[in-house]
Amino acid sequence: AKAQGRSRHEFYNAVLEAEVIRNKRIADDILAGIENNEFVPYYQPQISARTLELAGAEVLVRWQHPRDGLLTPDSFINVAEDLNVTATLDRTMLERALIDCSLWATKGIIMPKISVNVSARRLRDETLVESLTGLCILPGQITFELVESIFLDETDDVVLRNIERIKELGIDIEIDDFGTGHTSIVSLLKLRPKRLKIDRQLVEPMLTSQHERALVRSIIEIGRSLGIEVVAEGVETMAHAEMLSALGCDLLQGFAFAPPLSRDEFRSFVLEHRWK
Ligand code: C2E
Ligand code: CA
Ligand code: CA
Repeated sequence: AKAQGRSRHEFYNAVLEAEVIRNKRIADDILAGIENNEFVPYYQPQISARTLELAGAEVLVRWQHPRDGLLTPDSFINVAEDLNVTATLDRTMLERALIDCSLWATKGIIMPKISVNVSARRLRDETLVESLTGLCILPGQITFELVESIFLDETDDVVLRNIERIKELGIDIEIDDFGTGHTSIVSLLKLRPKRLKIDRQLVEPMLTSQHERALVRSIIEIGRSLGIEVVAEGVETMAHAEMLSALGCDLLQGFAFAPPLSRDEFRSFVLEHRWK
């Protein structure tokens, strides 16, 4: 029994070691990839539920890996977070998105707003605001999507100060993945976000499940009574879009309209009004 215990222990050690080696390799690749501009912004359109006009886009990072092709964040974002490079990635995405917006503008495409994801670590970073002051940002042009879990620690002074200063720069705050965490209505009131985004875990099943439908309806109600706009993500079919519009949701984002698109795909999507 003792020998068996030891071999199991050795087995787990070997598994852990393999994991460490694998992550080390990804980490090295990420650092080289940042150097070589392999990380690019993709854009998922957001459509106004009322007018069906283009309302903006969410910026989602993609890795054009020299060997493995186009990678989505699930294969690298955790290692990036451990490496402390998500802040660099987030900043790169914002800068590149602003450049793409001015490129689109020369083609006659006016982008109402872009939303970027901001990791919890970056929001706790004392140098966050400093890193933004060089950018030329029009009020309301940029939204920071912040995950709900960040608001659990309401006593974190750096976070609260950063949020206030972000708002002063004219950047809107949106609470991402709403409905999956534990944000209290009280902390919502305190933060006064511009927008809430309902997580796709609630949106996807809402056609068939009364439970999720009831939750989606109440989140939209909360938004409306507090004067906060509501975005739904994971809008996969027109049936979802219609139900969400009927419930009073403001913005729609999902495969029903478009998946995340490259800069050039996004340009043709808008010029050809492909969602209408
Ligand atoms: P998220 O912020 O919740 O982003 C929404 C995810 O849902 C995206 O996955 C998007 O491609 C996917 N999606 C959009 N519409 C649909 C739909 O109709 N159905 C389904 N099933 N999925 C849909 P993606 O691009 O793989 O991103 C995953 C997560 O990675 C994001 O979740 C976000 O937390 C993180 N992420 C992405 N880009 C960045 C970034 O630039 N910085 C940081 N810090 N995190 C990022
Ligand atoms: Ca998001
Ligand atoms: Ca989500």
